Amino acid sequence: MRIDIMTLFPDFVDYILSESIIGRARRAGKIEINTHNIRDYSEDKHRRVDDTPYGGGRGMLMAAPPIYRCYKAIEEKIAAQEKPYVIYMSPRGRVFNQDIAIELSEYKNIVILCGHYEGVDERIIEEIVDEELSIGDYVLTGGEVPACIVADAVGRLVDGVLTLPECHEKESFESGLLEYPQYTRPPVWMGREVPDVLLSGHHANIEKWREEKAREITAARRPDLLEKE
Ligand code: SAM
Repeated sequence: MRIDIMTLFPDFVDYILSESIIGRARRAGKIEINTHNIRDYSEDKHRRVDDTPYGGGRGMLMAAPPIYRCYKAIEEKIAAQEKPYVIYMSPRGRVFNQDIAIELSEYKNIVILCGHYEGVDERIIEEIVDEELSIGDYVLTGGEVPACIVADAVGRLVDGVLTLPECHEKESFESGLLEYPQYTRPPVWMGREVPDVLLSGHHANIEKWREEKAREITAARRPDLLEKE
């Protein structure tokens, strides 16, 4: 999978996605993530990419032409492959979750547009964007953190990125439930003991206990997930 991120802060995005599991997967060639500075596609002598909104109002808007040129340059680079699925990170979008991450992990090419200031000219959305995605009902200063969240959640589902592929299958949301409690050494810490069943070596009982705990925690914290079953 290849993910291209259009942003005004490519170093910030690149830094976050160069660490840990996603960083290792990038270096091992399991996933390709490229960042593109929209400013490089400005034709203004001061490399400006924003302007005031027609009709007045607060703040500045990112103009369509530099974003479009940036997108076309990406499209050209991946011309031989499938048309990219283009996402604009936006509080107006469909709220991102694990099902959407699974859906997106099926694409070969994804392009993510990060907005800034008051957002982007609507016409760039009409022209190139397939879907707007939000990471929750709050407003951030820019789309960079949301883009990193999407790239991380999607990237770890790509074959070969996690060392054990089944790692994500039993995690919160993917099984439809929140995750059961987990423990590691020491067996007793601050007077708190690891539940006996987990030390028993009896796999069927361990599975049963985990399922019960996952249901208990989901019922207490996210009963809405049980209604979907
Ligand atoms: N004026 C916009 C509005 O009211 O919807 C908010 C613009 S916000 C200050 C600047 C940029 O941050 C947006 O263009 C978007 O890319 C990003 N952003 C902010 N909150 C977000 C969220 N919850 N999910 C995804 N992206 C977000």
